[in-house]
Formats: sequence, structure tokens, C-alpha cells
Amino acid sequence: MGRLGVLGWPVAHSRSPAMHNAAFEALGMTDWRYQHLPVPPHLFAETALALGPTGMHGANITIPHKHEALAISSQASDAARAIGAANTLTFLPDGSIAAENTDAPGLLEALGVSLAGLRVQILGAGGSARAAVWGLLDAGAAEVCVWNRTSGRAETLARDLGARAVRAPQPADLLVNCTSVGLERPDLPGLIERSASEDGGLNLLGLTFDQLGEYPYVADLVYRPQPTPLLAAARAHGARTIDGLDILVAQGALSFELWTGRAPSREVMARAARAG
Ligand code: NAP
Repeated sequence: MGRLGVLGWPVAHSRSPAMHNAAFEALGMTDWRYQHLPVPPHLFAETALALGPTGMHGANITIPHKHEALAISSQASDAARAIGAANTLTFLPDGSIAAENTDAPGLLEALGVSLAGLRVQILGAGGSARAAVWGLLDAGAAEVCVWNRTSGRAETLARDLGARAVRAPQPADLLVNCTSVGLERPDLPGLIERSASEDGGLNLLGLTFDQLGEYPYVADLVYRPQPTPLLAAARAHGARTIDGLDILVAQGALSFELWTGRAPSREVMARAARAG
């Protein structure tokens, strides 16, 4: 018997309950449940600290609580500490809270290739970029470059984790979008320009369509049912692509294993995630 959930604000859009509940059903774990737990920032700490005593087994943590989740925990993995954020909490029987970050290993699992010796270009310098940079370097990437709209944040991240901040995205073996660009934004249509020479305008990711041809492998953390503009353009160049839902499934499956000690079907979780 176990109760789990995802704390975020807002969180109603999260596909995690559908993914985890589908995995419980497929494994015959009929007395396990996973639910949305909407919590505003000013109530996060007191709510998370009260969950264990109510019988909750664990929780995923999403925007904007990942940093605070680490801060309130009594113990943390090396990954969570180095990244400075937790996306998975386990409420232990003695009342303590263990923090883990499965975003980094989830990205590596979804990528499914050896990172040893590869050059990687990261776009973004927020929480998910920190997890990606730490995970990629830990997995042996030869160089990780970080570009961000606000360059000072890229410099801080790069200094903290041993990456290289760049003023423009560099050609690389792998490109990973860790910004929120590509989420549904009716106010910002046409996020990828076909060519700088055609349109000459600013591109939100510092890239043109033509430059995308410099990346044989492209991953986008943004998840939505249809391909993001970035992945659509990468596919048009013949790149291998990984979408945000695959990454979401992998990080969720790793959290599931941590809490239950059982390996869920990634296929079942992916079907449930994509059904929404
Ligand atoms: P975050 O900490 O808020 O960081 C947001 C990043 O996006 C910053 O680098 C920000 O740049 C950049 N950005 C936002 N709007 C932009 C724009 N209009 N033009 C250029 N850059 C822009 O968020 P996060 O936690 O890293 O999450 C980023 C995305 O990844 C979200 O869409 C989230 O849903 C997704 N995500 C997916 C997974 C998964 O499992 N698939 C896991 C985690 C996160 P500035 O610093 O300049 O503001």
C-alpha cells in the first residue's frame, strides 16, 4: 500500500499521475495511488513536511519547488546536492525525508547513447539545465557548452558545474533544449526561423533553421503532444530526436523504482503520458 503524488504550482497539467497509476495497474499494484498535489510556494515547506506523517510514501516535485524540496530534506543524494534541486522525495518511517534528483539520470536513460567523449550544447540555465549539465558531465561528455538568453545565468551555472558558457550556441554532437521555449505560446508564433538570411530576426533559442543542421542528435525537454518547433526543424535536417515526454517517462520510472523497488513498464507509462 502506498500513496504518492506530485507537488507543483500549478500542477493540474502534469502527466505524472496518469503515468504512475497506469504503471501500478499494469503491475497489479492495486493499493497504490498517485495524485496531483497543488501547493503554492508559501505553503510548500509546511505541506511537504506534513505529508510523511499522513502516510504518504513519497512525492515528485516540480516547478517551482525543486530547490526548496532539497532544502527541507534531511538527507540528499550526491546528484541532488550537486544539482541543487530535488524532484523526488521519499518520506521515511523515522520521519526523515530523503531527496533524490532523477531528472539527470532520466535524461541519460532517454538519450540511450554513450555520452563518453561527446560534445554537448545546452540551451538554458534554469533548474533543468543544471540537472542536464551535471548528468552529462558525470556520464563522461567531453565538453558541455551552455547558452542562455540571460548570459550571466549561463556563466554562473558553467562555473558551478564545470561547463563552458558560450555567447552563441556551438556546433556539437548533441543539442539539448532546457528552456521553456516551445511550450504552447500563442503570443509567440513561429519560434524557429527558417534562416537568418531570410528573416534576419532574433530567434529565441539563438539558432536558425540552417544552424540546426549542425546537430546530429537533438533532445527537447519541453513536452507536448505534437513535436516542438525545435524537434520538427531538427527532423527536417535528418537529426535523431528525443522528446520531452520520453524524458518525463524515464525520470518518472526511476522515481517509481526508488519508491516501490519494482521496475515499471516504460511503454505503459509512455502510452499513458501521451494519452492526455
Ligand atoms: P526554469 O528554471 O524556469 O528555466 C527556464 C529557462 O528557459 C531559462 O533558461 C530561461 O532563460 C529560458 N527561457 C524562458 N523563456 C524564454 C524565452 N522566451 N526565450 C529564451 N529563453 C527563455 O525552468 P526549468 O525547470 O529549467 O524547465 C525548463 C523546461 O523544461 C520547462 O518547459 C519544463 O516543463 C521542462 N522540463 C521537462 C522535464 C521532462 O522530464 N521532460 C523535466 C524538467 C523540466 P532566462 O534565464 O533568460 O530567463
